[in-house]
Amino acid sequence: MSTLEIKNLHVEVETEQGAKEILRGVDLTINSGEIHAIMGPNGSGKSTLASTIAGHPAYEVTEGSVTLDGEDVLEMSVDERAKAGLFLAMQYPVEIPGVSMSNFLRTAKTAIDGEAPALRPWLKEVKGALEHLRIGEEFLQRNVNEGFSGGEKKRAEIMQLELLKPKFALLDETDSGLDVDALRIVSEGVNNAHQENGLGIMLITHYTRILRYIKPDFVHVFVNGKMADQGGPELADKLENEGYDSYLAAAAA
Ligand code: ADP
Ligand code: MG
Ligand code: MG
Repeated sequence: MSTLEIKNLHVEVETEQGAKEILRGVDLTINSGEIHAIMGPNGSGKSTLASTIAGHPAYEVTEGSVTLDGEDVLEMSVDERAKAGLFLAMQYPVEIPGVSMSNFLRTAKTAIDGEAPALRPWLKEVKGALEHLRIGEEFLQRNVNEGFSGGEKKRAEIMQLELLKPKFALLDETDSGLDVDALRIVSEGVNNAHQENGLGIMLITHYTRILRYIKPDFVHVFVNGKMADQGGPELADKLENEGYDSYLAAAAA
């Protein structure tokens, strides 16, 4: 069992008007096999939370800690974070021109495991992932995220989840821009990784739609740079009906 622990996390970004505090004391603990939905209005700092854990250089931690099984994640390079078992699916994934999905996946697997995977079993796994995601083999020859549709970008992320077997996945707005079929396929991929590998999941979302497919154990309300409330799945239904107004009013008071 592994634990990802975020304690009193404060994060600033540099703006033209000087440093601006975006995260204002975030506490969150995720254990293996747990699904935590993070819900909140636009601009509340959800992506900043995910990007900070992933090691994005724009975000400066001024206070607090992030640890994975007691190891200081904030001291790790981006590569070391991936090796330690963290996976980030970004709201706006980057293109990698000249690098095919096939090469990218194998290189990432080699970097994470410290050795290249044996070819035959690896190709079998890759083929299995393509089948699960209902995509053709030509997908492997395309450059990472180059000209990918929203649905293809998400499928590329779920392939990584299945093949790289991280301990924790931070999924930022994985539902955005997906039609219902794509949403179902992507959710199946997430649920499989959860069931088969005990993946722990931070599922950031603005809408409750994806929570019909991926069932959270915990729902957290994130407003104005920190957690404003938490509960079980029923909290998501309440948010769908009532929105975030009462939380925003309380945060502004
Ligand atoms: P969410 O994902 O909840 O919509 P974000 O984390 O993207 O929120 O943004 C939170 C706030 O921080 C917003 O006001 C946004 O403009 C600001 N912000 C985020 N990243 C940066 C950055 N790199 N530079 C300046 N401001 C940023
Ligand atoms: Mg579970
Ligand atoms: Mg965001």
